[in-house]
Order: sequence, then structure tokens, then C-alpha cells
Amino acid sequence: MRYESTRGQTARVSAAQAIREGIAPDGGLYVPETLPRLEPAEIAAWRDVSYQERAGRVMTPFLAGFTAGEIGHCVTAAYNPEKFGQPEIAPLRPLGDGSYILELWHGPTCAFKDMALQILPHLLTLSVRKTGSTAEIVILVATSGDTGKAALEGFRDVPGTRIIVFFPNEGVSEVQKRQMVTQEGRNTWVVAVEGNFDDAQAGVKEIFTDLEIRERLKKSGFEFSSANSINWGRLLPQIVYYFSACADLLAKDVIRPGEGVNFVVPTGNFGNILAGFYAREMGLPVKRLILAANANNVLTDFVHTGVYDRRRPFHKTISPSMDILVSSNLERLLYELTGRDAARVRAWMQELKDTGRYTVDDTTRTRVQEIFWSDWAGDDAALATIRETYSRYDYVLDPHTAVARRVYDNYRRETGDATTTVVLSTASPFKFNRDVARALLGEEVARTHDEFALLDLLALHTGWPVPARLRNLAEKPVRHRRVARREEMKAVVAEILGI
Ligand SMILES: *Cc1c(COP(=O)(O)O)cnc(C)c1O
Repeated sequence: MRYESTRGQTARVSAAQAIREGIAPDGGLYVPETLPRLEPAEIAAWRDVSYQERAGRVMTPFLAGFTAGEIGHCVTAAYNPEKFGQPEIAPLRPLGDGSYILELWHGPTCAFKDMALQILPHLLTLSVRKTGSTAEIVILVATSGDTGKAALEGFRDVPGTRIIVFFPNEGVSEVQKRQMVTQEGRNTWVVAVEGNFDDAQAGVKEIFTDLEIRERLKKSGFEFSSANSINWGRLLPQIVYYFSACADLLAKDVIRPGEGVNFVVPTGNFGNILAGFYAREMGLPVKRLILAANANNVLTDFVHTGVYDRRRPFHKTISPSMDILVSSNLERLLYELTGRDAARVRAWMQELKDTGRYTVDDTTRTRVQEIFWSDWAGDDAALATIRETYSRYDYVLDPHTAVARRVYDNYRRETGDATTTVVLSTASPFKFNRDVARALLGEEVARTHDEFALLDLLALHTGWPVPARLRNLAEKPVRHRRVARREEMKAVVAEILGI
């Protein structure tokens, strides 16, 4: 299977090339030229099949040129029960009201980014070798929190790679900062940048496009690569858990083979829910994809009106990983829904760049509305939902998942649709414990304790154990103390690599 660009001005490439490049040379995103189909009977036969094996079966048709042994190695290295702290990689929990929570946060950083970033480094190193390079890969990341830590854990000690993460010195939470500066691994570097996230990101972009440092890198046997969420190698692993959830529902006799299921997805960059769309296109009986947004509700408006308009105020919310106004992965959906009309996609993306908005045609809008339903929830609604869900079902939601749960309640009320529904849970409540504590323990308690103390208070209150990775954080030794100004970032990279 080969990959083509959503902008249509790049020759088709192999899976390995698409993963190595990340973004196509014409500025588009790579998509597979055809989609494999998986029949309901086949999914029904996965009742007793492990997550690792399900991952291999879903991903294999997309990875032409990779051997069965290589794919087997990738999935066992990534979805290792030791790293996930338990044998179940993506467990499904019944809430008792006909809905289920798919917990995607048992990985090393306690958030769903691990589902993709645990396996991407393995896919990427193989891809680089398959495309004829012997260079050592250098991953540069600017992070406002979740992604940087998940990338560090994913690339940690993966042979042939080094990873350098820049985070804004002011602008990540105590727990997030501590998670990064205590990072282990022989090939990991973490640098605090004086300034905010935009400074760190702009600095990384400049280094990526700096021809002089690229030349020095090449001479020393290195090559830059990126782990960001538009890489097909990050999207593909996310398709797996939609299939896995349905296989688990079949195993529990909750649904019959071929019976439809709804998925509710807390959405930011449109990566997670797009994987659900691809699962549906591959034959998974998905009835509705319910897109849940926070106050940055640009995608909810898009689903309702067909107008994508990023010209609006940016809101800082208690679900920060969804605070996004330009959802890059939407481009892939538009490409598929227009029957792969690259010229139309190009025109919309150009309009977005020039004017900050675009309007899709009526046919495309109707297709979007047949598949997706959307609503949004603000911070107060999310906090109330954390409280209600805990008192009604004894289940503790993080603020991102609470947005999804609230939107699902709205969906049920408005449509009366009683189809079996899976809510994707994207973070452990302990990862965003200050706001969960606000909801369950009260504003006063949350304000007067630091995040580490709140971990224990929350565990005491709920009886839920603090994830081991977060529990030991306060005692872990600091291994990274570098601080740089934005204009020093390039020199820091050169010094770290010794070039
Ligand atoms: C990244 C993230 C999201 C948003 O996922 P997208 O793929 O960007 O839509 C939601 N919740 C959490 C906790 C995340 O880390």
C-alpha cells in the first residue's frame, strides 16, 4: 500500500517514506491510497486475542514493506504490560447506564498520547532504515505539557534515536515540569526555555529550517525528525483501540457482530477522532462519532455549519490538551469526504491561511453531519460532571473526559439514541488532579495544597490508587537543569549533539 498527499502535488510514497517524512513536501498530509476492510466476523473472532495482536492485525495492511517480525517487535515493545502497569492496555469499564469508558491512559505518562508515542519511535527507526539512511535520528519537540513527556518516554533508550525537548519555564504545571526534569534514559535531554510556549515552538521551528545546522548535523551522521501528530505513524496506532473496544464489547456479549456502536471523543487536534473515522471506513460498525469540544469550540461550529473559522478568542481551560483553534488533522477528513479532491482541499487550506476561515460545500457538510454529531462543554459544566459521575457511578473522570461525558449526556437528551456508547477517556484524573480536586474536595482544599499533596488527598477520598509513575515523582532526582533563552536554543542543540 502506498501513501498520497492530501494536496495532490507529491508523488506516491511507501509507508516507510511517509512515516520518515511526517509531512508531505507539498505541505499536505499523507493518507493511504486505499483502505483495507475488516469484516464483523473477523472482529468477532478477536474475543480472546491480546491488544498487541489486535494492533498487529489492524496495522499490518497499512505497513507494506514491513515484515511480520518487525511489526511483531513494534507492538510488543510498545504495548508492554510492564510499561502500562497492568496486562490490559486499553481496558473498557462499564458505567452501568449502557455506556462504557475506554481508558487510554495506562501508559507511562498517564495520558492517551502514549498509545501512539510508545510505538512511533519503533516505526520511525525502521522507516528510516528502510528508506536507506543510516543516520541517527534527532527528535526535537516544543511542548506545553503532555506531548513532550509522552515523546520522551516513547523515545527513551530506543537505539538510533536522541530526543531533545524544550518546555516553557513558565507555562507547564508542577507535575508536568517534575515529570520532565526527572526524565530517565541515555538519549534524552530536557531544556527549560525562558518564555512561553510560543517562544519554545518558534525556536524549534527555526532550528528545523536552519540550513547551516542541518549541514553540520548531516556531516556528523544525524538527521532531524519530528514526532508531531500529523505523522501517519501516530495516527495509525490510534485506529487500533476502536477495533479493540468493539472486540471487548463482543466478548462481553454486549453487542452482536455487526451491531452499531457510538464513540464519544474529547477533541483538540482532531487526531483521535479521525482514527475513529478511519476505523469506520474500514468496516467497523460505528454509528455516530460524537465530537466533544471545550470552550475552544471551532470544530463544533464546523460540524453544525460547515464553516471553519479560527478567528475567535483563545480560551485557556481546565482541559488544556483541547485548547486548539487549528486542528491540522481535519484536512485528512476533508480529503476523504470530498472523494479525494486535492484541488478543493488545497483551496480551503489556502483560504484558512489567508483569511482564517473557509466554508465547505453542502454535500461535504451533509456527509460530515451524517457521521459526526458535536457539542461543547465549558469548565463549570466539566467540573459539575466530574462531581455527578463520581456520586452516581463511583467513577473519577479527568477534565478532558468530563467534557466528553457531558457532551454525551446532551446527545442522549437531544436524540434519544440508546445505542451502546463508548466514551474515550484520554487522561488519568491524577494527571490533572488540581481541577479534579476542585470538583470533589472543594475549592478551598485545592487552593491550599500543592499538586503532590493533592494526589494523596484524592486517593484517600476516592479509594483510587495514585498511578505509580506519579506517586514517586516528588522524590525522583532532577536530571535536567539546562535553561536557555530562545536565541540560545540552536547552540544548545549543537552542544548536546557535540557538533
Ligand atoms: C491530546 C489530548 C486530547 C486531544 O486529542 P486530539 O487527538 O488532539 O484531538 C484530549 N485529551 C488529552 C488528555 C490529550 O492529551
